[in-house]
Amino acid sequence: MEVALYPFEYMRIIQRHDEGNHLPHWNPFKICSDKPWDEALEDGGRGYFAPLNDYRVVEKLGTEKTGFSIRIETVNKVKIPFQKQPVILELTLTHLNKDDFDKIQVGEILKKGTKKIREGTSGQASGNHFHVTANIGFYHGFKKNGNNKWCFVYDKSLTPEEAFYVDTSKTYIINRKKYYFVGVNYNKGMTSNEIANIDDYLATKIRGTYFGDYTVSAIKVFQEKNNLNVTGDINLETFEKLLDKGAKL
Ligand SMILES: [Zn+2]
Repeated sequence: MEVALYPFEYMRIIQRHDEGNHLPHWNPFKICSDKPWDEALEDGGRGYFAPLNDYRVVEKLGTEKTGFSIRIETVNKVKIPFQKQPVILELTLTHLNKDDFDKIQVGEILKKGTKKIREGTSGQASGNHFHVTANIGFYHGFKKNGNNKWCFVYDKSLTPEEAFYVDTSKTYIINRKKYYFVGVNYNKGMTSNEIANIDDYLATKIRGTYFGDYTVSAIKVFQEKNNLNVTGDINLETFEKLLDKGAKL
């Protein structure tokens, strides 16, 4: 099962969905709302959107003054955290500069690993960043809500922790702003709730949040059975196989 992975090489979130000028995007609006976060990447330069899933460009919109945006969606259905059924995940990226915006074609596929779109400052952003929203369901339009905020209105807007798993071998976390991200990489010595779920699924002799010797042995058996590299560590490949086989992750 393909998992939705955080699509930037660095995670340095500078504004959550529930603070600053993002709060009026959804509070108290139930219908005309979105839940944006600001991703500023490594430093003050212009880092790339670096997808780890394939995306299709659905729409280009905006102006220099309001900010250039693109709407994209995953080509395949992907598994997102905390939800059982895979979904088409729909993203919006805002504050692109005109140079990158002009290069993008509607209908174009941004393949996994493509680096084409950089963070920018269009729409009077104070510094280079992406204003991102993640969503599922039907798109109802770009609409202004009663708080005077323009929102990408879908059936459901997701916070980043609801939309993405994080592959820490691909994304270096500088600041996750207290979002709880589910990772896909685990190894001996780590502690997390997901390890307890993995232990439960593998029915290890001693179960809990700690990745100890029992988890290592159980993972090795699982990897051997499923023709994966037998390492005792969990990487993306093993994580996705665990999901395929029914682990709750
Ligand atoms: Zn923003």
